[in-house]
Amino acid sequence: MSSIGFEDAPDWEAMREDAERELAFQDEIERPLREAGLPVPDPTRRRREIAPERLDVVALWRGLSDEEREAIGVLGLGLLVSGGMASRAELTAPAATRAYTAHYHACLDALGTLPTPESAMAALRGPAWRIPADLGPVCLSCGCSEADACPGGCGWEDERQIRCTVCASPPPLDDDSIPF
Ligand SMILES: [Zn+2]
Ligand SMILES: [Zn+2]
Repeated sequence: MSSIGFEDAPDWEAMREDAERELAFQDEIERPLREAGLPVPDPTRRRREIAPERLDVVALWRGLSDEEREAIGVLGLGLLVSGGMASRAELTAPAATRAYTAHYHACLDALGTLPTPESAMAALRGPAWRIPADLGPVCLSCGCSEADACPGGCGWEDERQIRCTVCASPPPLDDDSIPF
């Protein structure tokens, strides 16, 4: 009699190799974070991903060196100038808009590849990720925020604004358990 299922013995060797590969992959991802002192949440110990403490970006900006501030500021100003002029020139000077747009994107790309300042890295070291305070309230469980609600919408559980209503309510029953 043929049947589907458990006739073949499990391939323990293959399973062990899979597990080892998985562990090596995990280590490859986590090692650089650990070496930098950045958070590596451990789901088995229920360590939270998001810290209740927030990152004060204004204070970080004020603490930057003149060189760091200049490198960031020049690119930020470039975005404002070229972004603003690209739209203003659009109807009367399309060639200028084209060039402004190219500069805008060059500034954006350059800003995205600047290294994170060392003082910011120092402020981010710890057991859980600190989210910039100027984002406003953030759900410590799922990371949703005022302009990034959960699918279907959510609100705050209470006035502390650290857990959203989706995370606060129990998970819905499986469809199978509904008898009709
Ligand atoms: Zn949530
Ligand atoms: Zn939410």
